[in-house]
Amino acid sequence: MLSEEYIQKIRNQFPILKKKIYDNPLVYVDNAATTQKPIQVIEASYKYYSTINANVHRGLHNLSQKATLYVENVRKQIQNFIHAKHSSEIIFTKGSTESINLVASSINNLIKKGDEIIISCMEHHSNIVPWQVICEKKGAILKIIPIHKNGYLKLKDFEYLISKKTKIVSITHISNVLGIINPIKYIIKKSHKYGALVLIDGAQGPSNLCLDMQDLDTDFYVFSAHKMYGPTGIGVLYGKKEILNAIPPYQLGGEMIKNVSFKKTTYSDLPFKFEAGTPNIEGIIVWGSAIDFVEKIGISNIQNYKKKLLIYAIERLSSIDGIQLYGEIKDFSKKSSIISFNLNKLHCFDVGSILDRFGIAVRTGHLCAQPLMNFFKVKGMIRVSFSIYNTFKEVDYLFEGLLKAKKLLLKC
Ligand SMILES: *Cc1c(COP(=O)(O)O)cnc(C)c1O
Repeated sequence: MLSEEYIQKIRNQFPILKKKIYDNPLVYVDNAATTQKPIQVIEASYKYYSTINANVHRGLHNLSQKATLYVENVRKQIQNFIHAKHSSEIIFTKGSTESINLVASSINNLIKKGDEIIISCMEHHSNIVPWQVICEKKGAILKIIPIHKNGYLKLKDFEYLISKKTKIVSITHISNVLGIINPIKYIIKKSHKYGALVLIDGAQGPSNLCLDMQDLDTDFYVFSAHKMYGPTGIGVLYGKKEILNAIPPYQLGGEMIKNVSFKKTTYSDLPFKFEAGTPNIEGIIVWGSAIDFVEKIGISNIQNYKKKLLIYAIERLSSIDGIQLYGEIKDFSKKSSIISFNLNKLHCFDVGSILDRFGIAVRTGHLCAQPLMNFFKVKGMIRVSFSIYNTFKEVDYLFEGLLKAKKLLLKC
């Protein structure tokens, strides 16, 4: 277990954590939305623009070659980070959302009338809407894996839903609302038996779990840099080489072509076939520093520490009279450090606004998962999500803040 001193050292690497919000120290527990950035990431951005900046894959000149080398090194770094077989299976995108849209758009031709696509009741809107639109366009049917009251997927229902008609199963690795870690390996195996492709929405994955694409055997896996200490506007689509080779490109333009004439254009090889236009060069290179940061601490150390925080927070929060915690809260083996709840019948925005006054940053509202809100029959929730720089003291402060918010709001 990482010591208090070690965590303090890590905290010192995050300049924003020294900030005061309404004269209170910032307690940032909205990490499932985005994480804060350590100094080495912030400095990498400065370094990029002051020593490397040039367009990639185009120029012969020194800087362009350097920028290209750095970008391709980060591609390899990510390949190693998620244990992909080839670096060309790593496609840079804007983030998880764009990666899902890329797949939904590029497999368009595989979907025919009457085909089926399976998602689950706990998906983020990013993993609902693209599939919904494809189904509408193609006359395909969107099937939803229901969940139990504790938030777990109803796997028996999944077994009933999956069939030869299923073209793709697109499921979140970890729920951004409940923190539940889904049994994706099982789902992938089962889906492949029926010849369906599988996409895993891993937006919450790499900051919480060690990932191994070859072991998972998933066809696609998507994630964003900004939820793992990296910059916004950059993410990855991992896809199996054979499949990426077989599907058409998503966007068309520069960088993704081999040869262009007015008669015919041929496309580049992987990964460039899916990377039209100038990529987010800075974002990619800076992301590399964020991965260095994570790897230096060790993902399993991060995971263990966050789990301790989670267990402590659940213990404290569940002692608050009138609190409603959503999803399974006893089996920590299947839960990452995300807790969503409501307090008495108070509106989540009111609670969130008061917490903000105390300097506590939580997420409130539908959490980009309205169908899941409907399942629990609420309009919104309050979400707390931890990161490596959060402390047990902050959990206490949050606990006190919630008690105060409750007292203030129940009075009026
Ligand atoms: C954050 C998140 C997304 C969207 O990620 P972007 O970085 O905004 O594209 C998708 N799915 C889940 C589960 C998320 O947590």
